[in-house]
Amino acid sequence: MYPKIVINQKKYQENVNILLDLSHSNHQSVMAVTKVFCAAQPLVDVLNESAVDYIADSRLSNLMKLDTHKDKVLLRLPQLDEVQLMVEHVDISLNSELKTIEAIETACAVHDTNHKVILMVDLGDLREGVFDDLDLFDMVAKIEKMTHVHLEGIGTNLTCYGGVIPTPQTLLKLVDIKEMIEHIIKRPLNIISGGNSSNVDLLQKGLMPQGINNIRLGEAMVLGRETAYGKHIKGMHDDVFTLEAQVIECKIKPSVPIGELGMNAFGEKVSFKDLGDMKRVILAVGKQDVSHLDLRPIEEVTILGSSSDHLIVDASLLDKVAVGDVLHFKLTYGSVLSLMTSPYVEKDYV
Ligand SMILES: *Cc1c(COP(=O)(O)O)cnc(C)c1O
Repeated sequence: MYPKIVINQKKYQENVNILLDLSHSNHQSVMAVTKVFCAAQPLVDVLNESAVDYIADSRLSNLMKLDTHKDKVLLRLPQLDEVQLMVEHVDISLNSELKTIEAIETACAVHDTNHKVILMVDLGDLREGVFDDLDLFDMVAKIEKMTHVHLEGIGTNLTCYGGVIPTPQTLLKLVDIKEMIEHIIKRPLNIISGGNSSNVDLLQKGLMPQGINNIRLGEAMVLGRETAYGKHIKGMHDDVFTLEAQVIECKIKPSVPIGELGMNAFGEKVSFKDLGDMKRVILAVGKQDVSHLDLRPIEEVTILGSSSDHLIVDASLLDKVAVGDVLHFKLTYGSVLSLMTSPYVEKDYV
């Protein structure tokens, strides 16, 4: 049934392997990030058969349902009310709050288990992470005294909220902090996690500072691009995921609505350019599944707009198009995310 998102496992595998070669040859262990595809098992299976070092997701529910023999990493800072479940299902979590880490210690005691934490350091992107170095060293000393929580390493996250690009100078701050912490605790940290897909550019140029030894990769594996500059990575696929939607109406109509114009179904005032009559095609997919701004048509059509359940395109340049035909779209990070999350969209693995 349409609409369907078509997922090419072989292309995903090829993307994963290219990034594994690049990362491992630069002494980076790899956390493969599964959140954009809701940790769908057929793609997790591809990761299971690869040399990926960890499986990481921002949602505990995804980590609980996915099946893997690799270590599981929770990327989003744990909520206090999920800590009990987390210590049972997750090996490593990223953290920035002592209160949460103390709750993890208590939960581990209850469940008679251990848990590894990576302390997040905010180098200026202003999403998660400890901002003040003295706070950080104070937390490190307190974690070292815990029995069940083990300080596995430190990490940072850039280009997510503030759009700060990872440069060698910025990442060297993380290496400085690593050295100060190792001096305090008198042992080496295992993981120094330098960031996400925006670090791929540094790897390609051989500029990753020594001391950074881990990368967390989601978007690059899925869309074949690094995210500091949005450049395509040579040899990688940008069509692991594509959307197929079916034509339910195809008629010649004007390009401007007729009558007095008010607001559309979403309370927006819309304006129209008069391009004369055009071949208008309606496809059975809508805002409830995906934003039309995140679709890249493969056939020669122009997206005009969408409502909850309808996508309207100008197909004047297509010779033959009829009710029942299927049109194809390449996707962005945002559209993969929403299409994979929509229960109305069939997931077709090829
Ligand atoms: C989502 C996420 C990633 C992966 O980011 P990509 O840009 O998709 O590679 C890495 N780290 C954290 C903390 C995340 O939340």
